[in-house]
Order: sequence, then structure tokens, then C-alpha cells
Amino acid sequence: MDIEFNGGYMLKNKVALVTGSSSGIGLAIAKQLALQGARVMMNGLEADDIGKEIARQLAEESGAECHYCCADLSSAAGVDLLIDHCIEQYGTVDILINNAGIQFVSPVTDFPRAQWDAIIAVNLNAAFHCTQRVLPLMERNGWGRLIHISSVHGMVASVNKSAYCAAKHGLIGFSKVVALETADKGITSNCICPGWTDTPLLNDQVKVFAQQNNQTLEEATRGLVHSKAPYPDLIDPAAIGALAVYLCSDMAKAMTGTALPIDGAWTAH
Ligand code: NAD
Repeated sequence: MDIEFNGGYMLKNKVALVTGSSSGIGLAIAKQLALQGARVMMNGLEADDIGKEIARQLAEESGAECHYCCADLSSAAGVDLLIDHCIEQYGTVDILINNAGIQFVSPVTDFPRAQWDAIIAVNLNAAFHCTQRVLPLMERNGWGRLIHISSVHGMVASVNKSAYCAAKHGLIGFSKVVALETADKGITSNCICPGWTDTPLLNDQVKVFAQQNNQTLEEATRGLVHSKAPYPDLIDPAAIGALAVYLCSDMAKAMTGTALPIDGAWTAH
């Protein structure tokens, strides 16, 4: 099969909504999609003036249209605000990247109920609410791509990460059901499952680990990585963006219901 590049831009004019894209993996995915010609709606908790500046910089760098909407996706109302804003701006949603996520670490016995609820709300419920809103648009268009950023913690567990593991495992189950329900509609639903990735979310964990073990940040990073994965380095968020581009391409139209690790062999054990 020939690959259709649309004059060099694989995703020209597709509308991509990337949740939690003011930072880290979401920002890297937004960038890769924009570089392929997608029009991007960015989102995060950062205030509008900060988020709009991030979107302006990405538009300048990529030549693509990029906008930002500050919306807290821990409630269905926040999700509605974001989706309505995207439809108002671009008329539809072709690609949804459910990426927004938070972390909290504690043994189950001490896990604060409010932290459990917050993690499930952002890391799992928001993906359901966003997907439910965009599916009718994708069905109408006969084309859609859903990518949920799960984690290695959607496949295996680590101590003290009960809520995070529950949400990330749940995301994979949810994505598979969506894949079954949309397989004949030109829509795919897949999870990407990163290991240690170089982002602010991970850096916060490194700082705690360094303090606890009286180590430098570099020693703590190496220690964390080696504790789980044989690959020696952190994963570059851009690599996750590149995988997302592939999953959005027409070459990947039969790839649905998968959960793809990009984890330095963490889950190969
Ligand atoms: P990050 O902290 O750099 O970025 C998180 C993004 O989510 C930010 O844009 C933030 O504003 C947004 N966000 C947080 N709470 C939100 C809310 N209530 N509503 C809307 N937006 C919200 O984190 P990251 O490391 O880039 O993580 C992105 C995703 O990747 C998360 O789902 C995370 O679980 C997953 N992940 C990260 C790693 C890693 O090692 N960094 C590994 C596996 C999976």
C-alpha cells in the first residue's frame, strides 16, 4: 500500500484535541501532531495567558493552527467546557488524545480518599467523558483516532501507586471496549503505555526519591530507572509523540484495541 502523505503533512487539517498538553508528554504529542499539519486544541490547568503563549509558540514552530483552553477535567463540566470550546473553534474533533494525568504516592492504608478520588477523576473519568462527547462527531465523519495515555502501570503494579494503577489499568479496559464498539466505523482506540519519561510529573518523584535517599537528582534518576527497566535512560516525550502520529495515520487504521508499551523493557520481565 502507498503511504498518503498529503504533500508532506500526514494529518493535514485534522483537528486534534490533546488534554493536559501545556506540559510534558501532552505538549510533545501536540507538537508532533502540529508538525504533521493537524490543527491542535491544547489544554491544561495553566491560566489562559500562560497556555495561550505556549500555543502561540507551538503555532510559530510548526506552522499549524494551535489554540489553548484552560479547563479542569476532573469534572464533567470541565470536559464539556473544553469540548464545546474545540467545536466552536474548529467545528469538530478528529483526534482525541486523553493524556491529562496526576500522581500521588502512598500505601493503601494511608491513601487519602480525596487523592484517590482526584486521580480517578482526572486519569480515568475524564477519558470517558471526553470520549463520550467526541464519538458522535467521529462517527458522523466516518474517521476518528482515540489515543489514551495509560502507563506501564496499566500493565503491572508498583507499591504505593494504588489509585494510579487502578486508573491506568481501567483506561486500557475502557479503550478496548471503545475499540470493539467502533471497529467498523473508521475509528480506532489505542493506549500508549510509557515507562519513565522525562517530564515534570516524573521530576517531582525524582526529587522525593533523592531527598529520601540523600542522593543527587542525577543519582536518584538513575536509581529509579534501574529499579524497573533495563534500558538506562529516561524516555524522550517526543518518541511518544511520534508513536501517536503513527497511530493517527491511515497506515494504522487496522490497529485498534491495543496497549503499546514504550518502556525500555520494563514490562518484558
Ligand atoms: P505533566 O505533569 O508534565 O503534565 C500533566 C498535564 O496534565 C499538564 O498539562 C497539566 O496542566 C495537566 N493536568 C493535570 N491535571 C489536570 C486537570 N485536572 N485538568 C486538566 N489538565 C490537567 O505530566 P506528564 O508526565 O507529561 O504526564 C502526562 C500523562 O502521561 C499522564 O497521564 C501520566 O500519567 C502519563 N505517564 C507519564 C509517565 C512519566 O514518566 N512522566 C509515564 C507513564 C505515563
